[in-house]
Amino acid sequence: MTAKKICTTCGTQFALHDAALELCPICTDDRQYIPENGQTWTTLDELSDTHSVITKRINDGLYELKIAPSFAIGQRALLVLTPGGNILWDCISLLNEPTIEFIKSKGGLKAIAFSHPHYYTTMNEWADVFNCPIYIHQSDEQWVYNKGNVVNLWHGREIDLWDGIRIVNIGGHFEGSSILHIPFLSPRGVVLCGDSFYISPSKKHIAIMYSYPNRIPLPIHEVQRIKEQMLLLEFDTMYGFYDFQNVYQNAKSILGSSLAKYI
Ligand SMILES: [Zn+2]
Ligand SMILES: [Zn+2]
Repeated sequence: MTAKKICTTCGTQFALHDAALELCPICTDDRQYIPENGQTWTTLDELSDTHSVITKRINDGLYELKIAPSFAIGQRALLVLTPGGNILWDCISLLNEPTIEFIKSKGGLKAIAFSHPHYYTTMNEWADVFNCPIYIHQSDEQWVYNKGNVVNLWHGREIDLWDGIRIVNIGGHFEGSSILHIPFLSPRGVVLCGDSFYISPSKKHIAIMYSYPNRIPLPIHEVQRIKEQMLLLEFDTMYGFYDFQNVYQNAKSILGSSLAKYI
């Protein structure tokens, strides 16, 4: 295989110099898994032949992008439209012409920002096409296997982007795990949480774990610390990494009461 290879379990694309990798290091980690039938790889070209990208409007300032049929972890990427420039929150492995045209019709991208390593996917392909930087927390640098030229490793507790939007590092799932806080798009503000939290199908409980697929809990002191940090933020709406994970009201109190159950 001469093209850059993509792990079919997590969707991560590796650089050409990693072509000899037998197992995906992201899936070998405790927070992911190598499937029972063994490691398999694909490429962006192969994926383009068999899959498409579905874009869906959530509201005037927020769209979701998802691969169909579902691929790897099955997450959505969220496109945030703002007066100061658009942000892609997390990423998906498939980038094709219709998706590029759609995003360009909305004004392109000013930045790609990540919650954590499970969604890095083909981030450098996206950054090349849209000529924008990638924001990744410095604590997760060891997981960036395909660094490209535009990865901005930020450090500290939070970083301001523009229009009051900030990336906040909360840790837990990964040391660099972060959320995107948007002070508009809802009456009291929005949190895009990736899988730093797992919004349940009932929308009445929000879980937190070190690993969701392997059901590995976080230490209680970490849950307590993250709860306290989240309660400092103003928000009423949360969007998670799966397309059903939209909480339109009372998200902060649901998160607070959910995390209190662990402690
Ligand atoms: Zn993988
Ligand atoms: Zn994850």
